[in-house]
Amino acid sequence: MQHLPENTGWIEVVTGCMFSGKTEELIRRLSRARYAKQSVVIFKPRIDARYSDDNVVSHSRQELAAQVVDQPSEIVEQATDVDVVGIDEAQFFGAELVAAAERLADTGKRIVVAGLDQDYMGRPFEPMPHLMAVAEYVTKTLAICTRCGNPANRSQRLIEREAQVVVGGSESYEARCRRCWKPAPEEQAPLFEATESRS
Ligand code: ZN
Repeated sequence: MQHLPENTGWIEVVTGCMFSGKTEELIRRLSRARYAKQSVVIFKPRIDARYSDDNVVSHSRQELAAQVVDQPSEIVEQATDVDVVGIDEAQFFGAELVAAAERLADTGKRIVVAGLDQDYMGRPFEPMPHLMAVAEYVTKTLAICTRCGNPANRSQRLIEREAQVVVGGSESYEARCRRCWKPAPEEQAPLFEATESRS
């Protein structure tokens, strides 16, 4: 962003697949606001119990204190005196988060929301698509495909589970490009076959 708006709130969305640096980007933006003496809080859903209960911890182990909440309404309640509100793992909050983010932005706050844009089947992962629509700023983050090194925008689930939400790290998921990603683990073909079929 070249220019920071004055006397108004807004919504920024940082979204992409797993291992694309969404949380690092969220932490970078909020740390920068904190250097400017703005008050900053990060919220995250209780479902994400990876690494730590009290910190937003990205895969690269950068940390920033976070409040764990069950409902988006708690974010609205707890962010009353805060300038910049960060929300991590936003895809786990559900549709209610959109109204909460809009309400906070309407009261003059800067909201930075990070979350997965697609689920493990490559389907838009609500409420992120809705948030992208109402946000002032959208940043799509890309990972690097574990198979071929191309820019990757999909999360490949490596374990056979049908639930939309399976919380996990590199043991359960890897980043894949459009070409290497497969909808289900059992349908994965070895890389040389995928290459052959394209010729
Ligand atoms: Zn690839």
